Amino acid sequence: MTQKPLPIYDGHNDTILHYAIPQVAPHYSEAFSEFFGYRELVNRDFFQRSEQGHIDLPRAKEGGLAGGFWAISPIPEKGEDKQSVASVGAGEDGTFDVPLPPEIPHTYATRFTIAATSELLRMIAASAGQARLVTTADDIVACIDEEVFAIQLHFEGAEAIDEDLYALDVWYEVGLRSLGIVWSRSNIFGHGVPFRFPSSPDTGPGLTDAGERLVRRCNQLGILIDLSHLNEKGFWDVARISDAPLVATHSNAHAINAATRNLTDKQLAAIAETDGMVGVNFHVGFLREDGQTDPDTSLDIVIRHFDHLIEKLGEDRVGFGSDFDGAVMPRDLADCAHLPRLVEAMRAAGYGEPLLQKLAHQNWLRVLRSSWKAT
Ligand SMILES: [Zn+2]
Repeated sequence: MTQKPLPIYDGHNDTILHYAIPQVAPHYSEAFSEFFGYRELVNRDFFQRSEQGHIDLPRAKEGGLAGGFWAISPIPEKGEDKQSVASVGAGEDGTFDVPLPPEIPHTYATRFTIAATSELLRMIAASAGQARLVTTADDIVACIDEEVFAIQLHFEGAEAIDEDLYALDVWYEVGLRSLGIVWSRSNIFGHGVPFRFPSSPDTGPGLTDAGERLVRRCNQLGILIDLSHLNEKGFWDVARISDAPLVATHSNAHAINAATRNLTDKQLAAIAETDGMVGVNFHVGFLREDGQTDPDTSLDIVIRHFDHLIEKLGEDRVGFGSDFDGAVMPRDLADCAHLPRLVEAMRAAGYGEPLLQKLAHQNWLRVLRSSWKAT
């Protein structure tokens, strides 16, 4: 009898974009398929095991992926900036510098976000109880106990929120519980980091006045604010304004990989001070010391980021933030079915069972419980 895999609650995936693209952004199918190495145009089904992409329900069960943050990030209307996605980490000399893509208008982002959220809700409805939208920490605990896949609605980029923040209350009622103010591209609330290596994350101005109001309102409602993709000024703006734990859902240690998307030791100290946390991102370009987008990357480097983050943040403030279906994975972590290989590598590196439980889901549960109003 094989042992059950460790249940992992994960801080970031872009999976719904893959399932929703043929319906909500068909113009983007080709760019996505190319970036993720699909043999034909993206055409996945959450309930069918596939060799393409990183997450479906059969592979999640196999790998112990219990659920996590499901990001919805508006894809541009015309696909004019698809190169900016496809070229992340593509520098031949080991450097990369991708300019920030243009802003996405609120009206289009709203239409896109409603459509993608609807696809997510339809998928859950079609799951016959195998997947559930979670809005409280107790929901997640119940999902792990009952082996139901937990889906947390997350926005990566606040383009679908209006300046008056009316949409925020509506999305909260739908189930939105976490929000990245920007996905790198600028919007009315702030500015993110361009994908650059090597570079400091201090790349430009931070939050706007509307962005500051957004942080305060998220605090009031109990919506977790995600710091990944913000530049350093934006990070310190949130740190100054927010009364919630500071959280970066899918970022790594800048001391090991000097990409703009990673966190400096000074930022990590601020996260530790607020009892926040960081989810480790498996994108090879944010893991490797040389920043190369090379899947031929050992799991040792993932462990080195865990080690560094644990050293700076403590055992209670680190978790998983895979970036499945949004990035290039190391070959031994090719999809969520491979998660037990990483857990094995962590065991081999001396991580004991209590620590593995914390990293796998307990730390996320603690931070979500303290960030959300309802537990
Ligand atoms: Zn991201």
